[in-house]
Amino acid sequence: MKVPLLDLKPQYSTIKEEVLAVTQEIFDSQYFILGPRVEALEADIADYCQVAHAVGVSSGSDALILSLMAAGIGPGDMVLTTPYTFFATAGAIVRVGARPVFADIEPDSYNLSPAAAEAVVAAMTLDEKSRLKAIIPVHLYGQCADMDAMNAIAKACDLVVIEDAAQAIGSEYKGRRAGAMGDFGCFSFFPSKNLGAFGDGGMVTTGSKDLYDRLRILRGHGASPKYHHKVIGGNFRIDALQAAIVNIKLRYLDRWTAARQDNARQYRELFGAAGLDARVVLPAEVQSRHIYNQFVIRVAEGRDALREFLLRSQVGTEIYYPVPMHLQQCFSDLGHGPGDFPEAEAAAAQTLALPIYPELTSDQLAFVVEKIQHFFA
Ligand SMILES: *Cc1c(COP(=O)(O)O)cnc(C)c1O
Repeated sequence: MKVPLLDLKPQYSTIKEEVLAVTQEIFDSQYFILGPRVEALEADIADYCQVAHAVGVSSGSDALILSLMAAGIGPGDMVLTTPYTFFATAGAIVRVGARPVFADIEPDSYNLSPAAAEAVVAAMTLDEKSRLKAIIPVHLYGQCADMDAMNAIAKACDLVVIEDAAQAIGSEYKGRRAGAMGDFGCFSFFPSKNLGAFGDGGMVTTGSKDLYDRLRILRGHGASPKYHHKVIGGNFRIDALQAAIVNIKLRYLDRWTAARQDNARQYRELFGAAGLDARVVLPAEVQSRHIYNQFVIRVAEGRDALREFLLRSQVGTEIYYPVPMHLQQCFSDLGHGPGDFPEAEAAAAQTLALPIYPELTSDQLAFVVEKIQHFFA
């Protein structure tokens, strides 16, 4: 049996007719950039995320950059975030000329720790505190960060809150949706995300009409009106084709999410029956709606050997992420070293993502757990 980490083909086969029909329409219209298809997706994503406004953009990475630009963050400014995330979170901060300030994660949720964030702020000089302008909590693997705590820190320090919700569309914290709890919510339609395009795409959500207007102007080179530029933006546009395909997939998202949640439930049962409690830590569900972009287990000893063994058994896995941001070579000028964020470093050394995509069969899930059991036996 083969169990790939992700296989998008079975999902495509269920929507192929709809996708080909809309593709045909767009090709016939020769209308490719922004326009009514993008506006329809923006309205539907705003509804889905329970937030007033949404702006379609070129990628999740650009959603972060555009949000930072709309918040007026640039050279000299500092932005608090997690060292245990996809590169784009920290990369966006540096791309706008600001400096990332890292605080460690919680070992159970892998999300930014409120206590660590508070301690980092408390240790800052007055000058640094005055330069700290934003906080970017990441809803890692599909589970929201502790947003009450994040918003409290933001309020105390007068920070803009940018949720990196790239892995968390439809995820909830105390009944509120990812992307509706901060000033900005940043989403990615990278194909491997729960709501993936047929290429790159992304979305920024915001509850503020003022920020919405700014995002839209900056998305198109800062022009307002056309060919008149009060500010410098960029090309952060999403294609009509990507928007139309994402909007078809949005109608299925809750079904697919339910299938991921059911796979997670089955894994918990299978692991429970396998008696691997001492070896394998299962993902904690600390928030109210985990959408399982990833199902990430933790193995204190032998993670890399387990991964090798699973690969030989035709089970796909991935390490999200092997090198935390503070140890990336390109951020060496920040002056961090091993030991600075021990929880992030331990997670990087011990975590392993297992296949969780909606179309997996119960037999495939059982095969994965059986192979893990073999490895430890
Ligand atoms: C995928 C991802 C991004 C970037 O999204 P792209 O669409 O690939 O640019 C940003 N942050 C996190 C946490 C992600 O997982």
